[in-house]
Amino acid sequence: MMSGPIRILILGGGFGGVYTARHLEELFAESSEVQITLVSRDNYFVMTPLLFEAGSGILEPRHAVNPIRPLLKMTQFIEAEVVEIDIARKMVTVGPPHGQADELPYDHLVLALGGVTNTKLVPGTEHALTFKTLGDAIYLRNHIIQLFERAQIESDPVRKASLLTIVLVGGGLVAVELAGEVTVFMTNLSRLYSKIDPREIRFDLLEAAPRIIPEMDEDLAQYATHTLEKRGVRVRVNTRVDRIEPGMVHLPDGESIPAQTILMATGVIPNPRVSSLPLEKDKKGRVLTEPTMRAKGHTNIWALGDCASIPDPSGHPYPTLAQHAIREGPQLAKNISAAIHGQPLEPFVYQTKGTLAALGHFKGVGRIYKFKIRGFLAWWVWRTYYLFRMPRFDRRLRIVLDWTVALLFRNDIVQLDIGRENTRHPARSDKPGADGDAEHHDSAATRADRSSSTAPH
Ligand SMILES: Cc1cc2nc3c(=O)[nH]c(=O)nc-3n(C[C@H](O)[C@H](O)[C@H](O)COP(=O)(O)OP(=O)(O)OC[C@H]3O[C@@H](n4cnc5c(N)ncnc54)[C@H](O)[C@@H]3O)c2cc1C
Repeated sequence: MMSGPIRILILGGGFGGVYTARHLEELFAESSEVQITLVSRDNYFVMTPLLFEAGSGILEPRHAVNPIRPLLKMTQFIEAEVVEIDIARKMVTVGPPHGQADELPYDHLVLALGGVTNTKLVPGTEHALTFKTLGDAIYLRNHIIQLFERAQIESDPVRKASLLTIVLVGGGLVAVELAGEVTVFMTNLSRLYSKIDPREIRFDLLEAAPRIIPEMDEDLAQYATHTLEKRGVRVRVNTRVDRIEPGMVHLPDGESIPAQTILMATGVIPNPRVSSLPLEKDKKGRVLTEPTMRAKGHTNIWALGDCASIPDPSGHPYPTLAQHAIREGPQLAKNISAAIHGQPLEPFVYQTKGTLAALGHFKGVGRIYKFKIRGFLAWWVWRTYYLFRMPRFDRRLRIVLDWTVALLFRNDIVQLDIGRENTRHPARSDKPGADGDAEHHDSAATRADRSSSTAPH
């Protein structure tokens, strides 16, 4: 017979994990019946739709995320890396950043570890940047500013062209929103660099499919294409990337594009910690669940968000979007409670309300229910929606202040180079010349820091 509270262990502090924990707290308020634990790599959750503005400096990066602790009352939060999930032993091994690995036993396990950027599609993707985490957004902004600084003093026209060229691989929603925000950012930046003409900036968006943003109606995708083209983006569809080398993108027809910024936005695959589990999975590696979000063939394992394949009433999987993960959380919490109390479980049913994309500079595009919207209205609706989706009033206030300041003043070009600052730390090196060396390697150091603290690729 079981003694002590029932242990519910949630892995992943993104939309799925945090919303599940919050709703479990509501259902088990003040009850000692359960012990809820949430493990996540970072002590904040990322409001991904706001990452683009964090990447361009419109938003202070910290304001695009929300600290997890203040959002939870009775849940034990552990900031740690999930290292191993042992389903047979009902045990999860976690490794805190500066401590010993620890084992956490569970009675109910919630898999909410999200996804990672798909880096398997194009050989050489390791030479490209990804855009999924807060670290990615901070890194991209620093990287672009650094390239502008170098282009300003570059006398060789070929090298200068490569510094000012961005190649974005992918044409889905994330790619298009990223292109919208980065083009505006670069145009604004060029005003501060006397030797850079905005016409020297080259931006190629390469999409293998016949059109961009398949998630939206054709005419809306056309609108997005025209908007980006007016900003100088070459939107190239039916263009598959053959391979990537450092500073070079190769296409199958022999064309090569020299670019110091190569960005991958080729979609998301499930977290490898989840796709390697001995559970039933779809062909992408997402955990196949019942409509109740219970993993097939298991009574105590649940999955939601980007790492789960949850069937809708017609049997098709729901899309991997924040708007779904936010709604899956409360239903999953209800079903865990029902399972504990021996009550019937309910399926997750949700009808999408539409899709919106911000294109930067007061422009957006999308559909809400049957209504298609474009331009300023779509941009305004997008901003308002995500502002109110951000939990906690103080976060929302900070965002509104950032937006107001961005309307009144030019982009800030301060390059916050944490890697370089760190090189002065005595623990790293006291050797003469260490600064110079480190300066040379600082981007790599920043990236190494970043990749160790973000999703594995
Ligand atoms: C740039 C961008 C913009 C987007 N814009 C939109 C949008 O406008 N609208 C929309 O609906 N959707 C959008 N999405 C998709 C949306 O972000 C995802 O569908 C959503 O985040 C999925 O939620 P999740 O909880 O499953 O995963 P996530 O939010 O990714 O959370 C997973 C969590 O698990 C943690 N984690 C992962 N591995 C480990 C580990 N080994 N150990 C410990 N912790 C770990 C991560 O740090 C993270 O906190 C966007 C995605 C991106 C990348």
